[in-house]
Amino acid sequence: RFDENVCPQAAEDPLFGLMAAYKRDSFDKKVDLGIGAYRDNNAKPWVLPVVKKADDLLREDPNLNHEYLPIAGLVDFTNAAQKLILGPESPAIKDGRATSFQTISGTGAVHLGALFLSKFSEQKPTVYLSNPTWANHHQIFSNVGLQIKTYPYFDKKTKGLDFNGMMAAIKEAPSNSVIVLHPCAHNPTGVDPTEDQWKQIAALMKERDLFPFLDCAYQGFATGSLSQDNFAIRHFVEQGFELCTSQSFAKNFGLYGERAGVFHWVVAPAPGAQDAVKRLASQLAILQRSEISNPPAYGARIASKVLNDPKLFAEWEEDLRTMSGRIIEMRKAVKAELEKLNTPGNWDHITSQIGMFSFTGLTEPQVKAMQEKHHVYMTKNGRISMAGLNTGNVQYFAKAVDDVVR
Ligand code: PLP
Repeated sequence: RFDENVCPQAAEDPLFGLMAAYKRDSFDKKVDLGIGAYRDNNAKPWVLPVVKKADDLLREDPNLNHEYLPIAGLVDFTNAAQKLILGPESPAIKDGRATSFQTISGTGAVHLGALFLSKFSEQKPTVYLSNPTWANHHQIFSNVGLQIKTYPYFDKKTKGLDFNGMMAAIKEAPSNSVIVLHPCAHNPTGVDPTEDQWKQIAALMKERDLFPFLDCAYQGFATGSLSQDNFAIRHFVEQGFELCTSQSFAKNFGLYGERAGVFHWVVAPAPGAQDAVKRLASQLAILQRSEISNPPAYGARIASKVLNDPKLFAEWEEDLRTMSGRIIEMRKAVKAELEKLNTPGNWDHITSQIGMFSFTGLTEPQVKAMQEKHHVYMTKNGRISMAGLNTGNVQYFAKAVDDVVR
């Protein structure tokens, strides 16, 4: 019944395919720069010390059980997550205009938002994604029947933001279109708008009556400062938008496999906003119930312990600075090594880009050579996960880049 005409063989997920190829490679100096997961200076996964502490505290609790969470998730967690992403002084929280649902990490949050927009928009909106964007955005939004367009984002020449191209596309978008934005540490380019550019983007979107979908997977991971990294979200809320935002705790807590995330919807300030948010929440609850019934507990419990305890929270901020700081150091080291080798080209973008990823500018054939000749694994668009670099392999990596660009 499900023959190849109706269910053709799909391509393997490129990122997970790359991971498998890396695993198969027996070369001792191989370098994994594929998946966006933090590694310590020994190329090992890092359990944040504060997460270990919270985990130990949870395990000591004799009342810990494995009951279901409510449909919207662990309330202490989602309340703290809301304060974190909107800012503790957010007018949306003070006015009771925000509702939050715990989800299957950031992916689940994007999906819940996409599903809601598809089901409840008067007319199905077009969704504008940055070109390029996290590849999964395309699948998530198209799987719920929404039409996708892209807006220019990355300028190949400057290896920075194509701000004019982005603004021109936003200006042309029909009103009520959904504009998906990465509030910090853009994946895959590592290129973020400046605060002034964010203000211009928000002003244009207001004028054009566009809906912001802010997908935030790296708060605290970009600059090391939680409040710097959520500037765009705070600004859009302050400008009185109705908007939604998806929040992942995979990267900033290192809780990748625990799938802790939250979806937030903020209603615009207007009479009846509190009733509106209740209505929306009632429908989100039905969508959530039909998809996952209720979210997984353990990761949320860990994050909740940390977010709700000022001492642990301060330790978490320290851990965030450790991760973002190491990545920033690696950016400097790559650039310095390439300059030392007199590698052709300008490598300033390595240090001006931010967050987990860098868009190196290597071409597809160069990426292929990196893998085949030098055993360095990266996605074919030239993206590297900075966290895969360390003091032990950065020189090797730079030499490989030097070789393939010559
Ligand atoms: N959104 C963006 C832009 C991402 O880069 C990621 C992860 O790579 C996610 C969402 C979701 O990640 P997760 O589902 O692991 O929280």
